Amino acid sequence: MSATLIDGKDFAATIREKVAGHVRHLHEEHGITPGLAVVLVGEDPASQVYVRNKGAQTKEVGMASFEHRLPAETSEAELLALIDRLNGAPAVHGILVQLPLPDHIDAAKVINAIDPAKDVDGFHISNVGLLATGQKAMVPCTPLGCLMMLRDRLGDLSGLDAVVVGRSNIVGKPMAHLLLGENCTVTVAHSRTRDLAQVCRRADILVAAVGRPQMIPGDWIKPGATVIDVGINRIPAPERGEGKTRLVGDVDFDSAAEVAGAITPVPGGVGPMTIACLLANTVTACCRAHGLAEPE
Ligand code: NDP
Repeated sequence: MSATLIDGKDFAATIREKVAGHVRHLHEEHGITPGLAVVLVGEDPASQVYVRNKGAQTKEVGMASFEHRLPAETSEAELLALIDRLNGAPAVHGILVQLPLPDHIDAAKVINAIDPAKDVDGFHISNVGLLATGQKAMVPCTPLGCLMMLRDRLGDLSGLDAVVVGRSNIVGKPMAHLLLGENCTVTVAHSRTRDLAQVCRRADILVAAVGRPQMIPGDWIKPGATVIDVGINRIPAPERGEGKTRLVGDVDFDSAAEVAGAITPVPGGVGPMTIACLLANTVTACCRAHGLAEPE
């Protein structure tokens, strides 16, 4: 392996320390404790793990964590009533509704019912519009984490060729807007892109957010490129024993690491950064709510 490993776990720990410092300052100087409310509807096992981790990390940095676990049969009206209460609760600075929601609930309606100032996931249509028009927004956590890692590694991103593979509303599109904001020349590729290999090969920055295990091989990568692998895919791992599985990204790590200048691993890359950015967004929301200077 010749590429430098971008250690998201380490980076996320640094961000959490900074967040904890801001939380202490808000408490000591202003008597304010930032609060994050997480709402989970139903018993999806992966969502339960995410919600548990978010709650634990929120408390670890000294913030208040409010968990609302609702049964799968919860009606849309009941959920909207809860959001309304949280919008009006002064101790709650950030609200996150864990997706996916059960089919009988209109997720867009619920997300857009969140007060945009408390929308720490950055999915409310107002925040999407603000980001797309280059204004101060709540920025979705996963692409924000990717951008932090890129800035840390590369400094000024101006003029670099960035290719984002994937155009989802939660990763690909906001990532593309953030990179445009950094003056990159941005290409967004997706399932209808012609000759994806050639498109990827021109990337100084390659962000993969597809959800297909190891689909991007090393020979699609420009020598020296910085590769951010957002994908989280579980594949069989018979070498670890019968029925065992392991996590891999959208990039074929071993071959890519021979060519890239730097690369994020999976797990331990983008994943840990996402929750750290959620905590950072909650502090930002808290500062804005109280008219205080925002952390850098
Ligand atoms: P979506 O399924 O919403 O979007 C996937 C995107 O990939 C779509 O735009 C799709 O194109 C594109 N795509 C699918 N197949 C191909 C192909 N063969 N070639 C090129 N593009 C293709 O996924 P998400 O954006 O939600 O997530 C992507 C990955 O990131 C997943 O593995 C997910 O688990 C992971 N993830 C990780 C997070 C983290 O914290 N690390 C957070 C969020 C997601 P089209 O639009 O044409 O269908």
